[in-house]
Amino acid sequence: ISMIESGQMIMSFRNFNAYDFLEKIFTMYKPMAAKKGLDLILTCENKELQLYGDTDRLNQVMINLLQNAIKYTESGKVEIKLEPTSKYGVISVIDSGIGLSENDIERIFERFYRVDKGRSKAVGGTGLGLAIVKHIVEAHSSQIKVLSKLGSGTEFSFRLRKYNPEKD
Ligand code: ATP
Ligand code: MG
Repeated sequence: ISMIESGQMIMSFRNFNAYDFLEKIFTMYKPMAAKKGLDLILTCENKELQLYGDTDRLNQVMINLLQNAIKYTESGKVEIKLEPTSKYGVISVIDSGIGLSENDIERIFERFYRVDKGRSKAVGGTGLGLAIVKHIVEAHSSQIKVLSKLGSGTEFSFRLRKYNPEKD
């Protein structure tokens, strides 16, 4: 385990099994999605994939992304996806919800920013979730990416380094 400080955040990095990590979160949110009539799915090609990161912080990331995906989706599905590349594992949360305009995409990672007070007020929140997500992902030397179109869903994704043999 190696400890690193990022801003006010103390990070504790280690190797972990990505599927086990995502499966726990998936199981936790399955009932919340079902209650809204949404199909929550977990897609993963390689259940052995080991990634390197701070699982407590990454748990916060996934909780924020999933709560948003469920909150801002009225029908359809929410997917958690894990895709390996040669050096990384890419984790995505994809929804079929209300989506975001180009202008909103530029601002959603700002602290306290909430899209169109009208539509966000109904579901509640402070507008801090994605600012925290961005900070944590960047503390993993990575970037949070968003693809979205108003009315046709949103995809958030970030990559993490694969297994680091020096840290075992
Ligand atoms: P909090 O997370 O602090 O409870 P919040 O969900 O409003 O409040 P963020 O998670 O930072 O705040 O998200 C900022 C805004 O981005 C939201 O208010 C919402 O309008 C928009 N947003 C976030 N995720 C999605 C999504 N999956 N689909 C559509 N809009 C989204
Ligand atoms: Mg949120």
